[in-house]
Amino acid sequence: MSVHTRPVVTVFGAGLAGALCAIRLARAGFRVELYERRPDPRVAGAAGGRSINLALSTRGIEALREMDLHEPVLADAILMRGRGIHPLRGERVFQPYSADPNKGIYSISRAGLNAILLDAAEKEPNVSIVFNTRCVGVDLDSMEATIEDQTTRERTTKRCEVVIGGDGAFSAVRSSMMKRDRFDYHQFYQTHGYKELEIPPAENESGEFGKFRIDPNALHIWPRRSYMMIALPNSNGSFTCTLFAPFEGEHGFESIRSDDDVTRYFEQRFPDAVPHMPDLLEDFRANPTSSLVTVRCFPWALGGRVALIGDAAHAVVPFYGQGMNASFEDVRVLGECVEKSPHDLGAAFAEYQARRKPAGDAISQLAIDNFLEMRDHVGSPAFRRKKKLELWLAKTFPRWYTPLYEMVTFSTIPYHLAVRKAAAQDRMVVAAFVALGAFAFFIVAATVVAFSV
Ligand code: FAD
Repeated sequence: MSVHTRPVVTVFGAGLAGALCAIRLARAGFRVELYERRPDPRVAGAAGGRSINLALSTRGIEALREMDLHEPVLADAILMRGRGIHPLRGERVFQPYSADPNKGIYSISRAGLNAILLDAAEKEPNVSIVFNTRCVGVDLDSMEATIEDQTTRERTTKRCEVVIGGDGAFSAVRSSMMKRDRFDYHQFYQTHGYKELEIPPAENESGEFGKFRIDPNALHIWPRRSYMMIALPNSNGSFTCTLFAPFEGEHGFESIRSDDDVTRYFEQRFPDAVPHMPDLLEDFRANPTSSLVTVRCFPWALGGRVALIGDAAHAVVPFYGQGMNASFEDVRVLGECVEKSPHDLGAAFAEYQARRKPAGDAISQLAIDNFLEMRDHVGSPAFRRKKKLELWLAKTFPRWYTPLYEMVTFSTIPYHLAVRKAAAQDRMVVAAFVALGAFAFFIVAATVVAFSV
């Protein structure tokens, strides 16, 4: 079928999901017009306020692989094989992510990834990209979008055939859908915010700066119960650290006002990190304190005319490292659905929504739950024993037992099915322990009886 007998797809947002979606749909035979609010980040530099690096794992890699983009993305990535836990006192502990030592998650640059996706989208003959143009809203009856030039502020209208909302957590496309009857919307903020800081590279033997100051093959965590700091490596030898802390209270951002407060806060709470953070005061002052939002909504699609992808459909907190991975998986599933029903986008979008909404809800909850695990439980001996038991079960009974983390991070099993399978496994393990306990009790009791007769 010729490209021109299919509707033109307008994608709003050329971030991670939008750019990949443009490539995917172009390769499925659609003409795609991609609109991005910001200037071209490859020229203007990356915008602040978002994480500098991201953890990429199997779901994201599979979606990139389908578009032959996994190799350029992974070329500059750093493999993190496990968590490097920094207790307040005592030695750092390494917790592998998987029973398979070759498995890990990859630290990649957000700006580098976005540039690779935009370069690839630009190479598609059926994709055009317009930067610096914001979607103000879409009239979903007439399918007229109002767009605004971000330099002149001039507004124009544009007729669209099909609209994909890839415009992030505060999506304008979703806002337009919200005005319709029976659109469910739930948004809530964490009591915690985050601030990015840096461990810069150290000098190597030849006097160049490029040496990692701490182990680059780990995702470092300083768990401190109600708050925590994490650090992910960058390919230039630095680490991007993120402090997650409550906005209010004793350990909160509001308690850190002066430079002395900053120094005291870090020296008391992260004493082994401070010597590696020579620019702590400047970074703390210069970098914003940002909030963490969760968005759940339904529906994600309107007939064959509109669909939401990525954070526009499901903004999640970053504690499972899955927001981007889930967004890329949206694109992979949307692509499958569209290829299955290219002449009936209504059916394609309905299937996409049915497959992805339960998955989106599941990862949204998992991400919230994992915050508690990262900031509190990972440091405890009980948690370490539980992880060891999980790894032992996975190694000993690979056909029967796969830890939840492994299913979420190293598989493409839909998130909600992974949660269900993990719960069933847990029940099985508890039942096995109860049976073992009963058996041991029976043997002891039988032995006692035998010897007392
Ligand atoms: P975005 O990346 O936000 O892209 C949306 C794009 O739309 C932007 O370019 C924006 O400028 C544009 N836009 C917005 N409004 C409009 C408009 N009205 N008109 C036109 N364009 C518009 N995920 C992971 O998988 N692993 C991680 O390790 C990880 N770490 C994270 C750490 C932090 C601190 C945060 C905040 C998030 C993290 N995430 C992580 C989540 C990840 O960043 C998001 O899930 C991902 O960026 C979603 O991609 P997206 O394209 O849907 O949205």
